[in-house]
Amino acid sequence: MAKIKKKVKTIKVDADKCNGCRGCELVCSAFHSTPRYSTINPARSRIQIIRFPLKDIWLPVFAGEYTPAECMGRDKYIIDGKEYDECTFCRATCPSRDMFKEPDSGLPLKCDMCEDEPPLEQPKCVEWCLNDVLIYEEREEEVEEGVEMENVEMGLTAMIDKYGMDKIADALARISQKD
Ligand code: SF4
Ligand code: SF4
Repeated sequence: MAKIKKKVKTIKVDADKCNGCRGCELVCSAFHSTPRYSTINPARSRIQIIRFPLKDIWLPVFAGEYTPAECMGRDKYIIDGKEYDECTFCRATCPSRDMFKEPDSGLPLKCDMCEDEPPLEQPKCVEWCLNDVLIYEEREEEVEEGVEMENVEMGLTAMIDKYGMDKIADALARISQKD
């Protein structure tokens, strides 16, 4: 199978520096509104700050993959004497919580690294975090061409099973109309 180069983008989170200002949530929701920057609604953000002020916990988490099933077992973490709730570090959009779901349609949200044309120098949340919590990095990896397409098809099939073809087609039409 042919190998292709794939650009891998990551955002490193220096969580100790986060003060919970939620600027990242605001700019993410504004950037992804249609038309762009027309509305601000943190509930539509693809980054969420997990907040437990009494425990001094402010943790940025990025929306990851959609999953139709809840976990059978969950983990608790204690870091520097602070105990984190079971789902704190999980990035999935899943049935057991409301995070990372479009408030109107319930469709899952996923961080797309602010893909744009022409490409941005760095994602919006990274640019707007004044405390340098979010650090953007890029690298290249070689992957097999077919595997990439298989992943796309598996993701689409799962979404169609869950929401039906009509809703997915509507969402794709909305996305394709973006500036
Ligand atoms: S903008 Fe930076 S400091 Fe503010 S909540 Fe987001 S990650 Fe934390
Ligand atoms: S990288 Fe872009 S899409 Fe992802 S959370 Fe940050 S602003 Fe939102």
